[in-house]
Amino acid sequence: MAVPLLDLSRQYAYLKPEMDEAVIKVLTHGKFILGPEVTELEKKVASLCNADYAIGVASGTDALLLALRAAGVEPGDEVITTDFSFFATAGVIHRLGAKPVFVDIEGDTYNIDPNLIEAAITDKTKAIVPVHLFGQVADMDPIMEIASKHGLKVVEDAAQAIGAEYKDRMAGSIGDFGCFSFFPSKNLGAGGDGGMIVVRSEENYNMCRWLRVHGAKRKYFNDMVGYNSRLATIQAAILLVKLPHLRKWSKQRIEHAKKYDEALAGLSGVVTPVVKESSTFHIYNQYTVALSNREQVQAALNEAGVGNCIYYPVPFHKQPCFEYLGYQPDDFPVTNKACSEVLSIPVYPELTGAEQDEVIDTIREAVG
Ligand SMILES: *Cc1c(COP(=O)(O)O)cnc(C)c1O
Repeated sequence: MAVPLLDLSRQYAYLKPEMDEAVIKVLTHGKFILGPEVTELEKKVASLCNADYAIGVASGTDALLLALRAAGVEPGDEVITTDFSFFATAGVIHRLGAKPVFVDIEGDTYNIDPNLIEAAITDKTKAIVPVHLFGQVADMDPIMEIASKHGLKVVEDAAQAIGAEYKDRMAGSIGDFGCFSFFPSKNLGAGGDGGMIVVRSEENYNMCRWLRVHGAKRKYFNDMVGYNSRLATIQAAILLVKLPHLRKWSKQRIEHAKKYDEALAGLSGVVTPVVKESSTFHIYNQYTVALSNREQVQAALNEAGVGNCIYYPVPFHKQPCFEYLGYQPDDFPVTNKACSEVLSIPVYPELTGAEQDEVIDTIREAVG
């Protein structure tokens, strides 16, 4: 039985009448840019995240870009982030003319290791970007403490962690800015690109709002040069239909993760995801195992038609575009090890019991 890594058509089948109606409503009212659905979604996401304000933007990448700009990151500044994430996390730092400074990860959670952050701080450091990888919130308490001691801004890359919790606090609400992505493969996915920034201060809220409309505080009056980065009204309408189901879907992912944990835990050469005690709601955007013989397991999964993917095969410090930063290949040994071992397997809410058994049996056979 073939098992896809993700099957978005099942979510649409489940919500088809409401989704069709929501899209047609937008086509009918015609307020395609910053229409009423965007404002409604911003209010609901702010409330979900226990934040005061939310700003809908064009993508998760733009959420990070605008948040870092609003945080005051300028050319020549340094921004500290993890060596192990989706490219956008580091790309936005470079695009602002700032220097990405990478830090190694914790071997168990794959999130930035807070113990290594202070050594990376210089006079030029402006901000820290922790990433809540695979849906587990990074260890935010020590990160916030370091940031406050050194006067740094914290921009949470919560693209994979909407609705996740850290010590019962919502992902995105702990730092100065929380950045979310509605890319279709995220836990709350739109029918295209979309993103959201959540903030706690009115000052940060206004700055992000201006930046998404070219930097104009008043239409056609520009004190600064911003971006064209709005969440499309049609996407907001789709997301409003899905949002009430998010918690249930995340719980279904957690159920699947539990079943994988039990079935795979004892296998030699297989390390199942570690959930920290501080991680009170891990939402498993990915279920990622570490395999000592990944090639063999991946070949078996491919052979059986079971979807899988390596998130991520190349650490930032080895990307050709970041060669100019001068890192050595052996820098960041924990990230290097993760890149050679990790493999993500299907964990989407609609995954059936039979499908999950197929994934488990294939891995069991492959590791012997
Ligand atoms: C998806 C993702 C992004 C970028 O989001 P887009 O909406 O695709 O631009 C940024 N960071 C992480 C960790 C992501 O997973």
